[in-house]
Amino acid sequence: MEIVWRNGPSKENYEQERTKRLFNTDIPARFPLAIASARREQDVVDAVNLAISKNCRISVRAGGHSYAAWSVRSHAILLDLGDYRECGLDENDVACVSPSVTGRELHDFLLARGRFFPVGHCPDVGVGGYLLGGGMGWNQPNLGWACEHIVAVDVVTAAGERKRADAHQNSDLFWAARGGGPAFPGIVTRFYLRTFPAPGIMRSSGYIYSVEHYSTVFNWALGIAATFEHSIEIVAIGSYQTGIETPCITIALLAFGDDEDPIKTLLQGVENSHPDGAVSHWFCQETNLAEQFEFKAKAYPTGHRWYVDNAFVRNDVDVAAILQPAFTTLPTRKSLALWSSMIPLSRRGLPDMALSLHSDHYFAVYAVWEDESGDSRSRAWVDEIMESVGAQSVGSYLGELDFRSRRAEYWGKEQRTRLTEIRRKWDPANRICGCLGLEGLGLS
Ligand SMILES: Cc1cc2nc3c(=O)[nH]c(=O)nc-3n(C[C@H](O)[C@H](O)[C@H](O)COP(=O)(O)OP(=O)(O)OC[C@H]3O[C@@H](n4cnc5c(N)ncnc54)[C@H](O)[C@@H]3O)c2cc1C
Repeated sequence: MEIVWRNGPSKENYEQERTKRLFNTDIPARFPLAIASARREQDVVDAVNLAISKNCRISVRAGGHSYAAWSVRSHAILLDLGDYRECGLDENDVACVSPSVTGRELHDFLLARGRFFPVGHCPDVGVGGYLLGGGMGWNQPNLGWACEHIVAVDVVTAAGERKRADAHQNSDLFWAARGGGPAFPGIVTRFYLRTFPAPGIMRSSGYIYSVEHYSTVFNWALGIAATFEHSIEIVAIGSYQTGIETPCITIALLAFGDDEDPIKTLLQGVENSHPDGAVSHWFCQETNLAEQFEFKAKAYPTGHRWYVDNAFVRNDVDVAAILQPAFTTLPTRKSLALWSSMIPLSRRGLPDMALSLHSDHYFAVYAVWEDESGDSRSRAWVDEIMESVGAQSVGSYLGELDFRSRRAEYWGKEQRTRLTEIRRKWDPANRICGCLGLEGLGLS
C-alpha cells in the first residue's frame, strides 16, 4: 500500500493525492495526516491498523463524488480506494463490486451479461458513497432505492477485523449499510448486489418550455406523475437552454420495458395532454443508458464549483408554487433545479433499513459556477431557496448535500437513534470519520 504523508518530501505529490478524483473543484482547506492508497482488502485492514497505532481517525474515498468532499478530513488518514477494483457476477446473478467502481463501469459490465442494476444517473459516481447513502438510480420509481438490492457487504471494522454483514450475520451493520451514508461505522470492501434482467427497450419523451409557462407545465407534470404505476421516470429540470435568455423548464420522461406497445401507449397519453407553447419537444425516441449517461455528464460538468441541497417536499403542499423561485431564478447558466417524482415507490413502505425518509417529490438545487468570484452569490441562492423549501419538507437525501449548510432530518427519528447506537457499538473510539457537520449527534 502506498502512503503519502503530509510532512513527506513532496508537497506537490501530497496535494495531488489529497485532491485526486474529487468532483467538486471547491477543494476544502482540510489536510489529512496521510493518504493511503489501497489495492486490495488487506490494505484496508492495514490502513485501519495504522490509524489505530497513530491514534488518529480514518476517512474513506471511493468515487470522490461527495459534493462536500467528505473524504478530506483534517488530521485523519485518508484511505483512497480508487485502485482497489473488483467486479464480478455469480451464478445467482448477484454482482460483487468494490466501492470505487463507477456506475457506468458496473452498468457496462452487467449489460454485457444481460443484467442490470439501478446505478446513479451520473456515470462517474462511485458505488461506495452512492449505495451507502441509499442510491437514487435509473428507474427508481419502479425499482426502488438502490440500497434495497444490497444482499450483503464485506466490511473492515474500526477494530481492523473483516466481517460479512447480511440479513443473518452482523445484521445491524447490514441495516446501517443501507442508508447510513457517511455515518456507517466501518469500511465496506465489497457490495453484493441483486441484479435484474437488462430492460429490452428504453424510450424518451421531453417537453421544453420557456419560464412564463412554469405553473401550467409544472402542474401538468404533477398531474400525470400521480397516475404512473409503471416503469417511467418523470422529472422537471430548470436550466438555461442555448439561445434563450431566461431559464426554461423541461419535463423529461424515460420509460423502461420489454414491449414497445404499452410504452408507446403510455407516452402517447402524455403527448396528447401536453400544454401548448413548447419551445421544442420529442416523443417516444429510442434511447439507451450509454446515451443517457452522456446527457447527464454534460449537464453535471466536471471542473466546476458546486453547492447543492435537496428536500423531500411534503405531499400535501402546493409543490409547483413552492418550487417556483428555484426554477425561475437560477444564479448561473450552468445551475440546475430538479424535481423528480418518486411515485409509485413513495406509495409503498420501505424495508427495515437506515434509509427511512422520502415523499412523492424529490427536489434538488445545484449551483454550478467557475471560480471563487461566484462563491457568495451561488451559495446564498441555494441557502435562500432551501430555507423556504426545507420548511415544507419531510427531510432530505444525504447523498446530495453538505450537512454543514442546513440541519434537516436525514433519517426517521427511531432510525437515527439506532444508527447512533450501532455506530457506538462498532466504533466506540470514533475512529472512522462520519458525517462532517453533524457534530453533537454521535454521527460525525
Ligand atoms: C455529478 C454527481 C451526480 C450524482 N448523481 C447521483 C444520482 O443520480 N443518484 C444518487 O443517489 N446520488 C447521486 N450523486 C450523489 C452521490 O451518490 C454521493 O455524493 C455519493 O456519496 C458519492 O459517492 P462516491 O463514492 O463517488 O463519493 P466519495 O466522496 O468517495 O464518498 C463519499 C463518502 O461516502 C462514504 N464512503 C464511500 N465509500 C465507502 C466505503 N467503502 N466504506 C465506508 N464509507 C464509504 C465516506 O464517508 C465517503 O467520504 C451524485 C453526485 C455527483 C457529484
